[in-house]
Amino acid sequence: MDLTLGPQYEEFRDEVRAFLDDKLDEDLRRDARISAGMFQDYETNIRWHRILHEKGWIAPSWPQEYGGTGWDVMQRYIWATESAEADAPTLFPTGLGMCGPMLIGHGTEEQKAYYLPRILSGEDYWCQGYSEPGAGSDLASLQLRADSDGDDYVLNGSKIWTSHAQHANRMFCLVRTSSDGKPQEGITFLLLDMDTPGLTVEPIIFSSGEYEVNQVFFDNARVPKSNRVGKENDGWTVAKYLLEFERGGGNAAGRLRSALNRLKGLSMGEGDADFLDKLARAETRVDALQFTEFRIISATGNGGRPGPESSILKNLSSDLGQHLSELAIEKLGGYTAVHQPEARVPGANVEPIGPADQVAALPQYLNYRASSIAGGSDEVQKNIIAKAVLGL
Ligand SMILES: Cc1cc2nc3c(=O)[nH]c(=O)nc-3n(C[C@H](O)[C@H](O)[C@H](O)COP(=O)(O)OP(=O)(O)OC[C@H]3O[C@@H](n4cnc5c(N)ncnc54)[C@H](O)[C@@H]3O)c2cc1C
Repeated sequence: MDLTLGPQYEEFRDEVRAFLDDKLDEDLRRDARISAGMFQDYETNIRWHRILHEKGWIAPSWPQEYGGTGWDVMQRYIWATESAEADAPTLFPTGLGMCGPMLIGHGTEEQKAYYLPRILSGEDYWCQGYSEPGAGSDLASLQLRADSDGDDYVLNGSKIWTSHAQHANRMFCLVRTSSDGKPQEGITFLLLDMDTPGLTVEPIIFSSGEYEVNQVFFDNARVPKSNRVGKENDGWTVAKYLLEFERGGGNAAGRLRSALNRLKGLSMGEGDADFLDKLARAETRVDALQFTEFRIISATGNGGRPGPESSILKNLSSDLGQHLSELAIEKLGGYTAVHQPEARVPGANVEPIGPADQVAALPQYLNYRASSIAGGSDEVQKNIIAKAVLGL
């Protein structure tokens, strides 16, 4: 890939910078920098989402006919890096990064016409109902039952670790419609409303105090069969297609580079040689990750899908994110012991104790432990890489 910016790209970059200067206010930038969870908090996320939607820049990776920007690979790269380096909030990925591409690939015309515009506008906020108390890595063993009853399925069971279910008005989920044959062959893919009678959401609080995940219970919850994506008992094909976007669809390098730059701001003067050496090594890893991301952006930009290589990206980015959060703890020393949750509430007007941009360093360190589990654990990604990428 030629990475030199031609004049038309310089012009585009200037347009992006002007837009960010104009619309990305200091509150949004600050709330993005101090975001403590695995995901950006809901309020900041949705504020930025609406601004991007109004501009028509909300879905750069979608085909233009469905509301994408029509940018080429280089423009998408410029957008991603410029916005990450300007500390733009990251968008919650389940609608734009997972459900949308999944519907474009597997949804009916009616489903696309109804749901895609609502994802773009932010009117619909999706959560992902894959994992269950007894089914994570071994997802095909899921047991949430969906019994056929006329035009509906009747759901009983539960989903767990459901990120942002407390904010979502929709869920895409996997249910068991048959127990005959191989476990993968009895799974169906459904879309449902979170206000369906019989559905309840119970919080699970992280050790950091953050509230991001839930357990969702289904007690005779009725879902119309017209909400099915794909055929009955063929949900596994749709589920795997979506997972490729989950693991490879983001802009991890930009986000990590921004975290790295904040660490550079902490390193001062003599006695820091060892720390600077660690930062330099981390920077080469960010660069390497960026190039892996280019390959995936190139594939999806040309109408392709991320493919099993997305598992490489998933492992590299979670590992590096954890490493950077460890470096922050190492450098901050005693400041990490300060418990000041009120200073990291979006829009807070509280003077932080210690470096302002690092007020969330400890909860980030704790919460990022989950990144090598969420979206499929490291070990499971390595199995996929061994089989599907290396052919071992
Ligand atoms: C913060 C967070 C957010 C999440 N959000 C969502 C969400 O929104 N929606 C959703 O559906 N799920 C979500 N998950 C669930 C996540 O996908 C699962 O936790 C993950 O797939 C692992 O499953 P498990 O927790 O059941 O662990 P297990 O599958 O029980 O794994 C336990 C350990 O065994 C290892 N292991 C398992 N199988 C193998 C194997 N074949 N080879 C080698 N090692 C193996 C694993 O690597 C792991 O270390 C989230 C999880 C977290 C932590």
